[in-house]
Amino acid sequence: MTSSRRKLVVGNWKMHGSRPHNAELLAGIVAARPFGCDVGVCVPFPYLGETAVALAGSDVRWGAQDCSQHAQGAYTGEISASMLAEFGCRYAIVGHSERRALHGEADQVVADKAKAVLGRGLTPIVCVGETLAQREAGEAHAVVKRQLSAVIHTLGHCAGEMVVAYEPVWAIGTGVTATPEQAQEMHALIRAQLHAATEHADVMTLLYGGSVKPDNAARLFAQPDIDGGLVGGASLQVADFVAICRAAG
Ligand code: PEP
Repeated sequence: MTSSRRKLVVGNWKMHGSRPHNAELLAGIVAARPFGCDVGVCVPFPYLGETAVALAGSDVRWGAQDCSQHAQGAYTGEISASMLAEFGCRYAIVGHSERRALHGEADQVVADKAKAVLGRGLTPIVCVGETLAQREAGEAHAVVKRQLSAVIHTLGHCAGEMVVAYEPVWAIGTGVTATPEQAQEMHALIRAQLHAATEHADVMTLLYGGSVKPDNAARLFAQPDIDGGLVGGASLQVADFVAICRAAG
């Protein structure tokens, strides 16, 4: 059942950008509408205020790339979900593989972050995905299942409200994209796991991420369980990001 799901394309700027570049990029995205799909950008925290201003009045959404699992307190350097809500964020990415790898974020921490995000009315984009070594060892499904289980268990009856992004680590920033068939296989397994947990699995948005580019987006997005993309590098140039959004529309 794909017809009831509107496609979604979200840009993950990572730690890129500058105020002049962001202004140009956001203006270009706004000017290129309509896309025929939902579109968002997840920007570095300091740029949230000006992103909100630049996108106000448009249907382009914005969000952050991480969120603390804590509501407030002595957590120097952390940003809470209520702070993101104050800046009008629609989304917060949690569990990106770079944070899992570089900041040691365990499955339960990611799950707690997703819960904190949902608790403030934002949508968590929960990233899951296996490394190359895990794929080569035949563990791809088990790894993704374990990562997703923690979130499903922690969110309980709210699990249907998250967006899940399948991002094979070996495809992120490498230029190597999962084939549409590889990506679809994992998305189908993810949706089956969600089916067992929530009656909303059929309407949940499952994104693919990992070297999505203008020339491969359409084939990926045509897969029955792929509802759009989480786009890193190609979200930093107006022409590329717009082309990917058009491929989803
Ligand atoms: C990402 O950072 O989520 C990502 C998918 O990056 P890229 O598109 O550059 O592979």
